[in-house]
Amino acid sequence: MKRTTLLALLFVLSAGIRAQNATEKGLNAISRQGLEAHLSFLADDLLEGREAGKRGGALAAGYIKAVLSSLGIPPFVDGYFQPFEAYGRDRQKGTNFQVNPDSIAHYKQEPGHRRLSLKNVLGYLEGRNRDEYVILGAHYDHLGTDESLADDRIYNGADDNASGVAAALQIARAFVAAGEQPEQSIIFAFWDAEELGCLGSEYFIAGFESPASIKGYINLDMLGRDGTLPAFPSNKERQEVLPNAFFFLYTEAFAAYPAWLGGEINARRWNITPNARTLSSKARGSDNASFSARNIPVLWFFSGIHPDYHRPADESGKINFDKLTNLTKTVYLSLWKVSNRN
Ligand SMILES: [Zn+2]
Repeated sequence: MKRTTLLALLFVLSAGIRAQNATEKGLNAISRQGLEAHLSFLADDLLEGREAGKRGGALAAGYIKAVLSSLGIPPFVDGYFQPFEAYGRDRQKGTNFQVNPDSIAHYKQEPGHRRLSLKNVLGYLEGRNRDEYVILGAHYDHLGTDESLADDRIYNGADDNASGVAAALQIARAFVAAGEQPEQSIIFAFWDAEELGCLGSEYFIAGFESPASIKGYINLDMLGRDGTLPAFPSNKERQEVLPNAFFFLYTEAFAAYPAWLGGEINARRWNITPNARTLSSKARGSDNASFSARNIPVLWFFSGIHPDYHRPADESGKINFDKLTNLTKTVYLSLWKVSNRN
């Protein structure tokens, strides 16, 4: 072997080992305690169900900002907050809030129209390539409170979606601990008003200069329970709730990922089972829709629908934290892979 070839080989090998060490350092920074701390705060009764445009939602946004800042994750926009407004018509005529300028202009003309002041929270990790992005997104809003409920009046949204927010915060921490700049730049996005029709993610992407520079979107919405996928149209088989299973939904560009991910989970003996399904670019359900509608490749991690879905009983005490921990590590590995493609 020529000396130059040998040196080149050694260089490639050492770069490979360095990347591997960095990945493992990141994994070690993800802890069950960290997830519990974030989730139990966000799903506490004091946050009043994190309703978009209300006090609880604003508290959640402030918490996320404080965590990103303390981790040393810089803001993607000044001060981390991306403020926006949504308009809706008179309550008599329907309840749809919109963020697109045409609808807003139209609604503003109508008497009795409604307005919400909202905000996304956006962190940023610059990659070696500053012109290409990968986004990890989780909505932080939930359904608020309902005073007419006879018993528990607070929709805590522990699974939906304090679990996804807690996971994304731990993954941000893991990237800092790994200490290696990714190839593509990463935006850590915490969306407002998903429950009102994916308003935060829609506002973000509609105003984003170059959607084609976004090479992948990873969506986290509900990661902490055991459940089913009943709303999936191609899913005719009887739905059984499998403990520690999760749904791994992917658009075509990520077709090679299920096999890779299954191998990683097996090799690391994480006690979770991926249930991979293709995701149509027209599929709705969560903030994935805002991105797949613009032909951006999407991965969506989802632990399934359960009887407490959109009920006050979606509380911290029911979260399967071992599963959430392993799932968070799985998402971290996936984001690592997606953001290090050449
Ligand atoms: Zn949700």
